[in-house]
Amino acid sequence: MEEVKIFGHKNPDTDTIMSSLILEGLEKTLGVYHTKAYKLGNINKETKYALDYFGVKEPELLEEIEEGTSVMMVDHNAFSQSVKGIEKAKIIRVVDHHKISDFETHEPLFYLAMPVGSTATILREMFKVSGFQMDKITAGLMLSAIISDTLLLKSPTCTDKDKEVANELAEIAGVDLNTYGLAMLKAGTDLSDFTPDELINIDSKPFTTNGLKYQVAQVNTASIEDVMKDKEKIESAMNSFMQSNSIDLFVLMITDIIENNSQFIVLGKQEIAEKAFNIKLENNTAFLKGVVSRKKQVVPNIDNAIV
Ligand code: MN
Ligand code: MN
Repeated sequence: MEEVKIFGHKNPDTDTIMSSLILEGLEKTLGVYHTKAYKLGNINKETKYALDYFGVKEPELLEEIEEGTSVMMVDHNAFSQSVKGIEKAKIIRVVDHHKISDFETHEPLFYLAMPVGSTATILREMFKVSGFQMDKITAGLMLSAIISDTLLLKSPTCTDKDKEVANELAEIAGVDLNTYGLAMLKAGTDLSDFTPDELINIDSKPFTTNGLKYQVAQVNTASIEDVMKDKEKIESAMNSFMQSNSIDLFVLMITDIIENNSQFIVLGKQEIAEKAFNIKLENNTAFLKGVVSRKKQVVPNIDNAIV
């Protein structure tokens, strides 16, 4: 049987990796497709912590696909955030919780999108509909994905459904939600061995609106101050990234996962960001209280400011 490749977005986060692995497992049980999960880049420390905790191996790296390859996309739909060659793939399924703006297929497909806090939450619903029992490890991976995307249920993207599912999964996985969640998030805040170039690519996504190309990257930390010590080096990494990728605007969110605020560093068309967030940048930077979600609090504002 032909292998169907499952993957999330580039610069993978915990939801992307776990959702790929969970869907692979679900499809194996359903038995229609022979599926295999892949990653489109190196996994981050937070994801590694969660995989190690539940004793699961990370997926293999996928760099490019050939024309006609059968695929399932999770946790993204934008081709610009996907694998090289996605335009000519045969997309069988999409399971996602993002806006749809850069997506087109030639054939009918199964597309499941819900406005919830993580793709894993949608997969939990798929499990329920299928009537399959949830095992401890799958529950642990799902829980990790929800914790990551909702910053331990505190992000404005978190819905009542995510909270309900997370509590239920914590019980099945046999972990204390807050203790495990904080330990997992903290594992992702260890930025000590990243170069500035790597740092701005840990969790970075491209967007295009009205022909304007912008990039929004996010790093999680327990101390904004610590990260800001390297501000100049980070800015120079952002500048070279903008040059080599013809980016008009680059927003870096340095997010305090304890207090749930973000320090922004903004380069390029700064006036768009100032309009979007009603801020005045000083030395390319501003503090945004209560802003933690790229998807809900950053990208829509920038799009509105561009239009
Ligand atoms: Mn994601
Ligand atoms: Mn997600």
